Amino acid sequence: MPINKGFVLASRPQGEASARNFRFFEAPAPRPGAGEVLVRHHYLSLDPYMRGRMDESRSYAASQKLDEVMIGGTVGEVVASNDPGFALGDKVVGQGGWQLYGVARGAELRKLPETRAPIQAFLGALGMPGVTAWHGANRILEPEPGQTLVVSAATGAVGAVVGQLAKARGARVVGIAGGAEKCGHAVNTLGFDACVDHRAPAFEADLAAATPQGIDRLFENVGGAPFRASFRRLNDFGRVAICGLIASYEGAAATTIEDMRLVLVRRIMIQGFIVMDRMEEWPRAIAELAGLAESGKLTWRETIAQGIESAPEAFFGMLKGRNFGKQLVKLI
Ligand code: NDP
Repeated sequence: MPINKGFVLASRPQGEASARNFRFFEAPAPRPGAGEVLVRHHYLSLDPYMRGRMDESRSYAASQKLDEVMIGGTVGEVVASNDPGFALGDKVVGQGGWQLYGVARGAELRKLPETRAPIQAFLGALGMPGVTAWHGANRILEPEPGQTLVVSAATGAVGAVVGQLAKARGARVVGIAGGAEKCGHAVNTLGFDACVDHRAPAFEADLAAATPQGIDRLFENVGGAPFRASFRRLNDFGRVAICGLIASYEGAAATTIEDMRLVLVRRIMIQGFIVMDRMEEWPRAIAELAGLAESGKLTWRETIAQGIESAPEAFFGMLKGRNFGKQLVKLI
């Protein structure tokens, strides 16, 4: 049996997560039981939601259990199979967690379609973050041609796809991102109309200059001060999709709306959503995203950490905005 390596959750963070919250393990790879397959993971996805699961608070999903392998999306290859539906060498996506090998039932895995996209794309633009962007853009915000859509964490796994989908619908897209390099990428590579650096001292004036007609659609990934500044610029009948509030995942004060009167007088619609709510739409969303990627109309960037041992540091970096595009860990 090959050797498995990975991390379990050792303790719950008080404030910022740290290396002490994880425990490294090495053990023989698990053996698949009846109806199960063994997957050698090639990539692990690191996502902001993992920080919430480390806490023991009431949320839309159960907390990560202590002393169990950290949850996480994985893509990999079937290396042993007791399920007739899976052959050795099949490439699959699943929730294998922070480890090199994982055992899963066939129903918990999805076979990857034949495409020219690299397999790790199914953890990013062609996977959960892409579907999140697709749902928020096409089912909640539905921007119309000429409308201004603002998206925060604009070069991230979700944000980059949101902006490109909104551009395809004819919207004017303005990103909010951390730093000049990310903003340059949003405009020059992702094709956004403008991008505003939320770390710049003149952020609020820059946002006003980039949205002279106000904001019709707001895809919120971050919360905090940039959210409040965007909210103040919403037009009548503006719509807001609350996708994530990463600025408060490490214990900062929750984001609030300063003036509810704005919601009333401007007839604003605010919708929070979780990508798992509409599983029936995933196949369609992924097929559309894969089609756009195939025809060169959808692009993305990745930050890839090397080796399972690097997972905690890469995770902390992502929570601080040090990733530039989808954060992955290469495991093979
Ligand atoms: P990203 O790849 O966008 O990485 C996180 C980014 O957040 C950072 O790179 C950073 O970008 C940005 N950020 C801005 N402000 C802060 C801050 N104060 N602290 C830390 N980071 C900050 O991640 P994802 O695309 O995977 O996720 C984006 C958001 O979408 C998250 O809030 C996540 O929880 C949410 N999400 C929600 C889902 C749902 O079903 N509702 C599903 C998937 C994700 P920058 O430097 O540009 O500011």
